[in-house]
Amino acid sequence: MTTGAGEPSPLEVIRLGHPILRKVAEPVPEDFFGTGRLNDLCRNMVRTMISEDGVGLAAPQVAEGLRLFVYWVPGDDDHPDIAPKLLANPEIKPVGDAVEDGWEGCLSIPGLRGIVPRYSRIKARARDLEGNAVSLTADGFHARVIQHEFDHLDGIVFLDRMDGPASLAYEQEWERFILGSGSEF
Ligand code: ZN
Repeated sequence: MTTGAGEPSPLEVIRLGHPILRKVAEPVPEDFFGTGRLNDLCRNMVRTMISEDGVGLAAPQVAEGLRLFVYWVPGDDDHPDIAPKLLANPEIKPVGDAVEDGWEGCLSIPGLRGIVPRYSRIKARARDLEGNAVSLTADGFHARVIQHEFDHLDGIVFLDRMDGPASLAYEQEWERFILGSGSEF
């Protein structure tokens, strides 16, 4: 979609050390749903996420202390892409106790990757841009992305969720020594 006003430039993604990343975000107020401002924020967040090669971006990462995030999930052999989606005022809960380890990175912690345990399957309830209730069940990487983004709304980053720092790797070294090495973490 284009507007006569031209495309805005991508938003600045704030990095670890900025105090907003460590604050609990405020619920999206009722009168913000269905507004052009929320629509613009969401659209700019999606553009920023894509241009930064991310799969998720939470409002606190663009210095907006609101409980909302956008994400998408690239497809694989078994699943098509999950197109960019907004979840506002989300609640999540695990389905079952299964937890799995997986690699994560974060646009607010550029250059680092680490292994994070997350619930394998979750249920999420949230609101969309118009304020309509949405609910979904997510597995695997999809569930991981939602848990990572949800944490940003509570001032939590993936480093806090790691069992320890031993797996931390710079992206270049991660690509060189770990990705494609066949290592099961
Ligand atoms: Zn993040």
